[in-house]
Amino acid sequence: MRARIEPQSGTALTLKAGDVLRVIDPLGEQVSDLVAFAADDPAEWLSSGRTLDYNNTIYLTTGHVLYSNRSRPMLTILEDRVGRHDFLYTPCSPETFSIIYKTTGHHPSCFGNLVSALTPFGIDPDRIPTTFNIFMNVSIAGDGELSIDPPRSRPGDYIELRAELDLIVGLTACSAEMSNNYRFKPIEFEVDRSGAYPDGSGRRA
Ligand SMILES: [Zn+2]
Repeated sequence: MRARIEPQSGTALTLKAGDVLRVIDPLGEQVSDLVAFAADDPAEWLSSGRTLDYNNTIYLTTGHVLYSNRSRPMLTILEDRVGRHDFLYTPCSPETFSIIYKTTGHHPSCFGNLVSALTPFGIDPDRIPTTFNIFMNVSIAGDGELSIDPPRSRPGDYIELRAELDLIVGLTACSAEMSNNYRFKPIEFEVDRSGAYPDGSGRRA
């Protein structure tokens, strides 16, 4: 069944090892921030640093494995209809909007939405790491300067990630103007649970 994340909001879900999460951009040019924690010990979390180390690229796509801070595979990208995602930026936060956008007053943020979604799972705000920013289009100039461009995703494009461990996952429809070409849109997702590993070992029987 397809679920919808309303614009500028977020959710949390659990995956069993072998489940496949499909994250869909229904209208195009939207970003979805993803975090993951080991279900049996949330001190193990999805690590940008480890993932970039072992894949030797900042552009992760089909076939790449996303690793935990303990260097265990957490998610494998099975299919990628877009081919450009970011794993450098933290989730947009209240401070993102006050420091970068000079916004005053309340602004929804992926960080705030992840905190709300993950608090029931016992995950504290300080434990939310750099997010895997699905569909976020970041380029690096030769001098190292980063730029954020509109996502390359078109309506209906998606990415599929297979859980390699039992996971708690946080997922958003991004709240940052620059990330989604200044139009706030929803995100949709589906979970295919037919491939779950029976023993939860992270390996197919
Ligand atoms: Zn965001």
